[in-house]
Amino acid sequence: MPSRSEGVIFCRSKGKKWNGRWKGVVYDRSDRLATTRKPRKCTTAGYTDRGDCVRATRELRMQVEAKVAAALEAMANELDHTRDLPLRPASAAQAEANVVYYGEAFHADREEGSKSFRAERYVRVPASRERFAYATGCRHGVGKHACVNAAVRGYHCPEHKDVG
Ligand SMILES: [Zn+2]
Repeated sequence: MPSRSEGVIFCRSKGKKWNGRWKGVVYDRSDRLATTRKPRKCTTAGYTDRGDCVRATRELRMQVEAKVAAALEAMANELDHTRDLPLRPASAAQAEANVVYYGEAFHADREEGSKSFRAERYVRVPASRERFAYATGCRHGVGKHACVNAAVRGYHCPEHKDVG
């Protein structure tokens, strides 16, 4: 998910490198700083024309998103709860019932408590009338044997909470 401070900004602070120019800001979620744990900030060059900057920012975002997707896929292949699963569609409305997916985690780790870049297992759940949302999937089983239930507290469904 793009951060709120992302986008094209005009810099007017005197004496700064970008003064009087447009620059694009994109955050690389797969590359967190060791000190702050915040995603690394990537910027375009400075542009006098806003349109040029918008194009350069779009290009930069595509590069960063491709890098994030590759890092996530590599991570998913390493973990039992995400390997051999399809990537979740962008919207839960496009996801299928009883299919288990992997995707970029959008919540803090339930055991570590910190928000980090990691692959998580997801299933589609009903959100409200004719709407769907993603829920963290139960970690029981691998690949096509993955449990299709949502995890309730911790990383398992009630049926598998004692089995693992
Ligand atoms: Zn389960």
